[in-house]
Amino acid sequence: RIYLDWNATAPVLPEAREAMVEALSGVPGNASSVHHEGQIARTVVERARRAVAKAVNAPAQAVVLTGGATESNNQVLRHHVRVTDEPFVICTAVEHPSVIEVVRDLEQEGVRCAIWPVDAKGRLDLGWLEAKLDEGATLVSVMWANNEIGNVYPIAEIAELVHDKGATLHVDGTQALGRIPVDFNGADIDYMTLSFHKMGGPKGIGAIVLREGIKIEAILAGGHQERGRRPGTENVPAAAGLVGAMAALGEQGDAWREALQRKRALFLEALTEQAPGLELRGDLEHTLPNTLNVAFEGIDGEDFLLAADLEGVSASSGSACTAGSLEPSHVVLAMGFEHDDARRSVRFSFGPATPDEDLMEAARRVGAIVERLSALMV
Ligand code: PLP
Repeated sequence: RIYLDWNATAPVLPEAREAMVEALSGVPGNASSVHHEGQIARTVVERARRAVAKAVNAPAQAVVLTGGATESNNQVLRHHVRVTDEPFVICTAVEHPSVIEVVRDLEQEGVRCAIWPVDAKGRLDLGWLEAKLDEGATLVSVMWANNEIGNVYPIAEIAELVHDKGATLHVDGTQALGRIPVDFNGADIDYMTLSFHKMGGPKGIGAIVLREGIKIEAILAGGHQERGRRPGTENVPAAAGLVGAMAALGEQGDAWREALQRKRALFLEALTEQAPGLELRGDLEHTLPNTLNVAFEGIDGEDFLLAADLEGVSASSGSACTAGSLEPSHVVLAMGFEHDDARRSVRFSFGPATPDEDLMEAARRVGAIVERLSALMV
């Protein structure tokens, strides 16, 4: 089989797997316990914190470990509203549901909110943001890179605007980590949220990275872990896996990115050859090096994905959360595509370990599927 759905989740890196197995068998303690076993578990958790800090250029004390980016996003947005007089929350129309649905909930609860629209390529208009900041927006939530169309957003520019007007910036960096350079300090962000299963770490562990001096309250009660900011027994095996994944990332950094760029170009060329009439979606000039969002003329995305699955190619129609539902992706709809047109979107995402031959073979199978499905339609 050829797995081209890395943006849903990436295969676990060997370095992460080995570290997790070792922790599962060799670290029995609870990181909050004062005895020897507890202290060994504590060491693993603190190593994970330092590994995240190093990977994103932030101080270790700025990192709060959580159960994933969904949780991190919920916590940041809700915390902001709780501690802000007259909160006014902005998020882009292409955010992950763990942001956009919280914003909708907040709106229902009476909080002033606005959704930042995108153009047909999924790009953002900074003028729109400036106007909202002038109207008193207090929090701007924007992803570093989009999981469905791969667009990379100009975080440093957005940060400057947001801070000039005295507002706060939250960046969901989940899809950026391991794919493009992520420099927390350099980008001048207030809150950044992360998840580690998109780049070869374990599922069920994420982080919030905080600008120096910014505090965050827990959304759960009942424990003092993570200095009271994230109650619940620490996930030590996942923390160990995280250390392994970050070590691999640190070693490979630029080489991975270059490999991804080359693979993307190769795959795109092969797809264009095999599937004439291929339509590309998103902002191709500012895109993740591992993501391609495409549409095939007259072919419904779900029909394509079912056929591809039978042929041993795993891709996606967008976020894993919309997959399986008949609703088109909210991202593609936000770009202005009509319902049926939006349903044609197919996302291929791969990683540094995806062999070139797999991409070539996938393109061949895709070409054959498109030919067959097109013939059925006439
Ligand atoms: N944010 C983005 C951009 C994502 O792609 C995902 C992936 O599902 C999430 C948040 C949620 O992350 P998690 O699976 O850790 O909850």
